[in-house]
Amino acid sequence: MADDSIAVVDLDRCQPDRCSYECKNYCPPNRTGKECITLRGEETDQGQPEQIHISEEICLGETCGICVEKCPFDAIEIINLPQELQDDPAHRYGENAFSLYGLPAPQEGKVTGILGPNGIGKTTAVRILAGELEPNLGRHDEPVDWDDVLEAYRGTEIQDYIADVRDGEVTVARKPQYVDQIPNTFDGNTRELLEQTDERGELESLVERLSIDPVMDQSIDDLSGGELQRVALAATLARDTDFYFLDEITPYLDIGQRVTAARLIRELAEEEDRSMLVVEHDLAILDLLADTLHVAYGEPGAYGVVTAPKSVRNGINEYLAGYLDNENMRIRPDAIEFEEHAPRTATRADTLVEYPDLTKCYGEDEFTLEVEGGEIRENEVLGIVGPNGIGKSTFAKLLTGNLEPDEGDADLDLEISYKPQYVTIDQHMRVDAFLSSITDQFGSSYWNTEIAQPLQLERIMEQNLSDLSGGERQRVAIAACLSDSADLYLLDEPSAHLDVEQRVQATSAIRRYAEQQDATVLVIDHDIYMMDLLADRLMVFDGEPAVHGRAGTPQSMRDGMNEFLANLEVTFRRDERTSRPRINKPDSQLDKQQRSEGEYYYA
Ligand code: ADP
Ligand code: ADP
Ligand code: SF4
Repeated sequence: MADDSIAVVDLDRCQPDRCSYECKNYCPPNRTGKECITLRGEETDQGQPEQIHISEEICLGETCGICVEKCPFDAIEIINLPQELQDDPAHRYGENAFSLYGLPAPQEGKVTGILGPNGIGKTTAVRILAGELEPNLGRHDEPVDWDDVLEAYRGTEIQDYIADVRDGEVTVARKPQYVDQIPNTFDGNTRELLEQTDERGELESLVERLSIDPVMDQSIDDLSGGELQRVALAATLARDTDFYFLDEITPYLDIGQRVTAARLIRELAEEEDRSMLVVEHDLAILDLLADTLHVAYGEPGAYGVVTAPKSVRNGINEYLAGYLDNENMRIRPDAIEFEEHAPRTATRADTLVEYPDLTKCYGEDEFTLEVEGGEIRENEVLGIVGPNGIGKSTFAKLLTGNLEPDEGDADLDLEISYKPQYVTIDQHMRVDAFLSSITDQFGSSYWNTEIAQPLQLERIMEQNLSDLSGGERQRVAIAACLSDSADLYLLDEPSAHLDVEQRVQATSAIRRYAEQQDATVLVIDHDIYMMDLLADRLMVFDGEPAVHGRAGTPQSMRDGMNEFLANLEVTFRRDERTSRPRINKPDSQLDKQQRSEGEYYYA
């Protein structure tokens, strides 16, 4: 086939005991007697039929694709690589397996960002940079060692780094992506976990700045997602290594905590001359955090390409535009666009519900929430913002009637479909069975186009809920919430664990759903870009976390953003080219000017 095509067989999906090798029987070259699809010839468990192998030399490429259609388990992908991709891979896991092109280039004293979807080879790249995985340069027929790798990357930004890896001189600390899994691997309390990592003598200050003190003696099992995220950050940054890899820092953190995490990472790079590599899907934070940026693109599970480093501004702009300038590469058909000045003018829709002033106290004086009365409108997306621990979930429970207010009457008589912040669906049940138990629309063309497709559910329908990754579980939970019939849809942190592309898709799925189904949607989230693209109006919470909270009445996006950002003392300017919001440097001229004008977001 054309040199630029690859065949990828997902061996977890290929189950010849349940098909009759339709791929092989229908493959045109096979039918003319060539050995295009063959059996692997590997020993199998107790007489299980052998899995298949596809010859990339003989295969006719994506335009044929017959086997892809024939396979009942979606195990085969035939992909024409973009012609612009001239390099050899850095690594390929084997024939018919995932390949990674290009490598990120960590630099001393700098924060290097990676922007791109999951499944594109970030972990593979980090294992190479950590010296754990010796890349094979995609060559399977000859031995490859670090000297060959160095030769292949001579003259690139990463040459010196590879030389250090070859010489065994790089030490690594890593923060994993899914912090929810930490309790499965550690038994003990926060203090015990953190004390093991205190290699730089900086633990105390990290604990203070990340506000971990209140949970120091708590068992790791009992920490919330946001607490685990901060403990994991402290544990990683407390280590004394050359190279730090942080796979997503923002899930479950509020904006203040996100900004603090970003500052800590920058300080470690700048003041201690360390190399930091960060994968992050919250674009406002990535923008604030990184010095240079690699965009990653490709076909998740099949191949991934890490571009040469770009400036952060250009990298994010090109990513949003869907077109990479230097690579001459379109990565998405449409651009993602932000509105420059005008917040959507508040819609004049009918009122769905009015609620009075409400008060809720937990215990004697543990936490008090005061809600200013307001109205929620039909078919609007109402954004809800504010720090963690300020009473947002409590407000949601007052709306759903799960909690009784101490003052005020919230008897709303509304049916609410609720996606909680921490998604707990993990029964032993298949995704399709779970979703079809929620809606009889399941499988209809409407449901497929509006829900399954934008949330990328097709490929995971046959999987068990308990086997899903964090991002997959999130998408199923959003689908389940929107599929239920209700008066009000309430999504708590839908962005958590979604990659940047999935956030964009989920955003448009939620908006379209609200518009087309005349549904009213409340969204609690900390990702400013997602909120900007999603919400018609905003409800702002403030106060003192864990002590008392105040929920303001819903207001226009402009007024809401100004109030919210004033509480945080953060201002945004607009990128000249794309109008996307960018966080101003504190005390820069623009920051001061906007603050004095009270225009925190729409200057
Ligand atoms: P990311 O970190 O971007 O989500 P990974 O680097 O973990 O991506 O994985 C990229 C692809 O490589 C996945 O499709 C994964 O299934 C595949 N992969 C990872 N490790 C192996 C391996 N040891 N053998 C074959 N394929 C692998
Ligand atoms: P948010 O959703 O903004 O993070 P929550 O509404 O979940 O905030 O919680 C607000 C505060 O109330 C937190 O300090 C939390 O610990 C406390 N809280 C929540 N539920 C209870 C409860 N059932 N009993 C006592 N305190 C609670
Ligand atoms: Fe055969 Fe390639 Fe066509 Fe698949 S895509 S049927 S392997 S020629």
